[in-house]
Amino acid sequence: MHKLSRATLSLNGLGRCLIAEKYVSAIKITSRGFVCAEHRDESGKNEVYDVIISGGGLVGSAMACSLGMDPNLEGKKILLLEAGNKKVMDKVPDTYSTRVSSISPGSASFLTGIGAWDHITQMRCKPYKKMQVWDACSDALITFDKDNLEDEMAYIVENDIAVAALTKQLDSLSDNVRVQYRSKVVKYAWPMPHQTADSIPWVKVTLASGETVQTKLLIGADGPNSMVRRALGIVTVKWNYDQSAVVAVLNLSEPTENNVAWQRFLPTGPIAMLPLSDTESSLVWSTSHWLAEELLELDEESFVDAINSAFWSNENQSELIETAGSLFRSALSVLMPSAGSPRQLPPSVAGISPKSRVMFPLGIGHASEYIRHRVALIGDAAHRVHPLAGQGANLGFGDVACLTKRLSQAAFDGKDLGAIQHLLEYETERQRKNLPMMAAIDLMKRLYSTNAAPVVLLRTFGLQATNMIPTLKEQIMSFASK
Ligand SMILES: Cc1cc2nc3c(=O)[nH]c(=O)nc-3n(C[C@H](O)[C@H](O)[C@H](O)COP(=O)(O)OP(=O)(O)OC[C@H]3O[C@@H](n4cnc5c(N)ncnc54)[C@H](O)[C@@H]3O)c2cc1C
Repeated sequence: MHKLSRATLSLNGLGRCLIAEKYVSAIKITSRGFVCAEHRDESGKNEVYDVIISGGGLVGSAMACSLGMDPNLEGKKILLLEAGNKKVMDKVPDTYSTRVSSISPGSASFLTGIGAWDHITQMRCKPYKKMQVWDACSDALITFDKDNLEDEMAYIVENDIAVAALTKQLDSLSDNVRVQYRSKVVKYAWPMPHQTADSIPWVKVTLASGETVQTKLLIGADGPNSMVRRALGIVTVKWNYDQSAVVAVLNLSEPTENNVAWQRFLPTGPIAMLPLSDTESSLVWSTSHWLAEELLELDEESFVDAINSAFWSNENQSELIETAGSLFRSALSVLMPSAGSPRQLPPSVAGISPKSRVMFPLGIGHASEYIRHRVALIGDAAHRVHPLAGQGANLGFGDVACLTKRLSQAAFDGKDLGAIQHLLEYETERQRKNLPMMAAIDLMKRLYSTNAAPVVLLRTFGLQATNMIPTLKEQIMSFASK
């Protein structure tokens, strides 16, 4: 082992890299001519990584791929730690899985850039071209579609398929990224921003196996109950919605083109039917905990009746709202005769896939800080939203794209990846994007959680007016599709 005290290395004209660490065990020249230093502590244990990502769900796996693909980060030592098993998929299962995500066009192009989208489309995903959202307490509705129906509005992708695609991509990046499955982190120790005699230089990560590793930058991608966030004592603004989502794979009564995503706002919460194939759709029914539990207990026939009734029944509508809504709609159609779009009826459901009914508690949470010295939070570890707008994973992919850009620039400039300056830029940029989206989702959730007549009237007029103004709808679509 060579003992170096503050050495500098030239990086092929790309800048200068200041090695502040005391111990360098080896100098490595990579295939692309990059120079990197391998570190170990005095005992030779506690391997030091440039970046450790804790949590290999959708967002953490995407982060590992994104860093592994970035040319400026070539030669950096990157480790992904995931508590669960490796998710490989040699063959796509015949049955659809219950957990799906609506992936926006922006996320699809990000996943294309990191080489995972091709794997997804080769496995299975369902594009859709239109969305209809309507109110159970009135006739108000809004439809979103692309002008020419060749464009996709978004894609329904099973979470298992997305993770398997990212895993496949990570396998091809094994020179750049090391992945350790079944590696649960049980403890973190943090360095001080200003090094003191008893402060450790890097973040120290202890695994359940007893193994310890160190990193110059820890990325917390460990989900809504993030241990990284809790261990740092980062305050989280959060509340539970007293709602759970019941999800299931639905068999439709008859084959259809099935390229519309349907969502109806019931006073107890939104119910959504998302296309999977010509004959199957995915159900996300957000409702009170007790109703969710009841829905899980129902026999299949009663469960299917409950779904059809939730999409079709008019039991929550009142004559007053009905009359006011239709008067308002007539007035609008005089002002804008060609605007608006006709109501379509959702397909009816005939059955569900065996054992596909599961329930998830819902909540909202936002970390007051996304970063600390040598740490960044991404995905649900930083923010958790209600699934009604299908945005959780999309926001997480946005975090990954932004953090990669900042780290890539830092590496290009020869800067310390864990330094606070570029992490702050990441935090500012993402909070500017995530907070308005979270506020809009929360407002929608609250606005639709009541059947009080004044609120129903207000949202009926609002929805009908928005449906008549194409430019406003385009702005909403562009806000949601990034
Ligand atoms: C019903 C429902 C429907 C949804 N629909 C959509 C949708 O349509 N579109 C959309 O964009 N989003 C949707 N979402 C949100 C989306 O599923 C989440 O935002 C996304 O899965 C978050 O991914 P993540 O990787 O940040 O967290 P997670 O998926 O929670 O992954 C965290 C990972 O970290 C690992 N981990 C945790 N602790 C440790 C530890 N100590 N050591 C090592 N590993 C650890 C876990 O094993 C896990 O693999 C939906 C959510 C729900 C509940």
